[in-house]
Amino acid sequence: MVTITLQELTKRFSGSVVLSSVDLQVPAGELFFLLGPSGCGKTTLLRHVAGFYRPDEGRIWFDDEDVTRLPAHRRGTGMVFQSYALWPHLNVAQNVAFGLEERKRPRREIEHRVAEALDQVKLQGLGTRKIQQLSGGQQQRVALARALVIRPKCLLLDEPLSNLDAKLRLEMRTEIRHIVKEHGLTAIYVTHDRDEALSMADRMAIMDAGKLVQVGVPQDIYRHPATRMVAEFIGETNFVEGRAMRQSSWAGFYDVETPFGTLRGRTNDGTWQPAAGQPVVLSIRPESLTFGTVVDSSNRIPGHVVDTTYLGATVQYLIQVHGGPLMKVCETNPQEIRLPSEDEVRVMVAMNDVVILRK
Ligand code: ATP
Repeated sequence: MVTITLQELTKRFSGSVVLSSVDLQVPAGELFFLLGPSGCGKTTLLRHVAGFYRPDEGRIWFDDEDVTRLPAHRRGTGMVFQSYALWPHLNVAQNVAFGLEERKRPRREIEHRVAEALDQVKLQGLGTRKIQQLSGGQQQRVALARALVIRPKCLLLDEPLSNLDAKLRLEMRTEIRHIVKEHGLTAIYVTHDRDEALSMADRMAIMDAGKLVQVGVPQDIYRHPATRMVAEFIGETNFVEGRAMRQSSWAGFYDVETPFGTLRGRTNDGTWQPAAGQPVVLSIRPESLTFGTVVDSSNRIPGHVVDTTYLGATVQYLIQVHGGPLMKVCETNPQEIRLPSEDEVRVMVAMNDVVILRK
């Protein structure tokens, strides 16, 4: 397992910048996620680590070895593709053995390692099956076994679960994480599925237009998004426009004037301070809004319920804020369900859950 370091990586395709001076370090043994909208450059970044692309500028290091110019087959990376990229004319064992055949390993070693890899992905006994005789989930496992069999320095996964149905996707999340951790592998996993990233990642980066906008552990990114794009991409949220007034009497918190009164919140990491009068946008997650009482909060938002959706474990409300926007409220395990009505309600939010972002 290796520490992967990307240093000021830049890539242009036909003159347009697809990766823009990307700096990133993925420590040995970490399961790291690249998450971002379609076309932001995730696959391009992964392919640079694999060695399929050369950067226009910048360097790639595996530990202290500069691999920027090293061809893919000499990097020792295992790659799993969205399409699986299995050979239909070869059986399961032959598909898995491919990387070892290429490396001209002795026959007995190949047989032993293929059996071991099939065991790891729970496909023992299926070595002689044809690829067409496997389910999508089993094909995905063959692709994983083929990457693992070469005992890679790092594992690179490009949307490996997108072709599976929802139930299988959930199962495979746990399994892939388990395999990566059991082998102590450094892994980079590309997806645009935020639940996959939130539930599996040790750390993750949110990418947008060829740049890493924010890097951190899932909880931090969810609770402390750095920009409006990150806040929206990583989960549902309500945006409220306003104008910063002043630092509040609580260190690190600011009062923001909105069309429906003053809300107190914090910036995402405490390093940025909005100037008095500066236009800002607030991000408030639906589950942090409540009809109950919030201990530390002076944040009360008046409105009325315009829509109620019962979802079993949760109830979602749309609140028309008086003098403000529509806001989504999500209550977990509610005792009482409120129906749409003109009656005024007050939703509350702790000041810690109001994130002030640059507009
Ligand atoms: P998706 O989630 O849709 O797979 P992505 O974030 O992985 O998207 P990339 O596949 O890395 O995005 O593509 C980034 C940009 O680079 C896109 O605009 C794409 O059209 C462009 N691009 C990717 N590969 C090439 C190539 N070989 N030649 C020219 N342009 C390319």
